[in-house]
Amino acid sequence: AKEAGGNTYRFFRQEMLERTTRRLTLEMDLRRAISNNELELHYQPKIDLASNTVTGVEALLRWRHPTRGMQAPGEFIPLAEENALICDIGAWVIGEACRQTAIWRAQGLDLKVAINISARQLETGDLYQQLCALAHQRGIPPSSLELELTESALMKNPEGVTGLLNQFRQAGVRIAVDDFGTGYSSLAYLRRLPIDILKIDRSFVLDAIADEDDAQIIKTILALGQSLKLAVVAEGVESESQAALLKASGCDQAQGYLYAKPLPGDDIEAWLTQHTH
Ligand code: C2E
Ligand code: CA
Ligand code: CA
Ligand code: CA
Repeated sequence: AKEAGGNTYRFFRQEMLERTTRRLTLEMDLRRAISNNELELHYQPKIDLASNTVTGVEALLRWRHPTRGMQAPGEFIPLAEENALICDIGAWVIGEACRQTAIWRAQGLDLKVAINISARQLETGDLYQQLCALAHQRGIPPSSLELELTESALMKNPEGVTGLLNQFRQAGVRIAVDDFGTGYSSLAYLRRLPIDILKIDRSFVLDAIADEDDAQIIKTILALGQSLKLAVVAEGVESESQAALLKASGCDQAQGYLYAKPLPGDDIEAWLTQHTH
């Protein structure tokens, strides 16, 4: 019995050691990725369902890892969010989105670019100044950007973020509540927060055709959006039938593989020429 206990102990120690090593390696890799220009933003169009026009794009982070290939944010954002690394990455994302926005504007494309912001970035205190400085550096108005904050990030400390959101609001930066429906929003807070857009989480869209409950949740979110005078965007739209259901239910905008996967910045102009007239 003593020996078995010893083995178990050794096993856990080994496992912990491996996990720690993996984390530290990933963290070092990721720090290097920023300075080595291995990070990229891809952009996914948002479509206005009534007019079938593009209203803007969402910037989604990618990591072109030298040996492991293209990494989706799910592979590294959660780790980065555990420490201050997400703030360095977040600053890079804002700067890069500004750079791309300036290029598009020079081409005559006035695209609103939505950026995903982590809870930790809201807590750093200088997010507003940071965004304004980076926008100014590229000669674009802050109002060409939009911020996507998850419902759970906002509801962590709704009173604490209100001042910051108001600053953005006054600069014309619209605020979207991401993954809406998956958290536990208090209606009282939702009504008071200076927000502009609700993004219906992909999970509800996924089953909306087959599952009456999910279709009902979508309708409830749309009604809520209407009564709070918020625009509603559905994410993860993959089929015509989902798009039709959303449109019939009064949803304003949609985003998903049906229209486009996230594309490198250079490819967006070509996509737009093909898809708009
Ligand atoms: P999100 O903000 O909810 O982004 C939507 C995710 O759904 C993206 O995954 C997008 O590629 C994917 N998607 C879009 N349309 C469809 C569809 O029709 N079907 C399916 N199956 N998926 C679709 P992605 O790019 O892997 O990003 C995952 C999450 O990582 C994002 O979820 C966001 O929370 C986070 N993220 C991405 N970029 C950033 C960033 O720059 N900063 C921060 N803090 N988080 C980011
Ligand atoms: Ca998002
Ligand atoms: Ca989302
Ligand atoms: Ca999501």
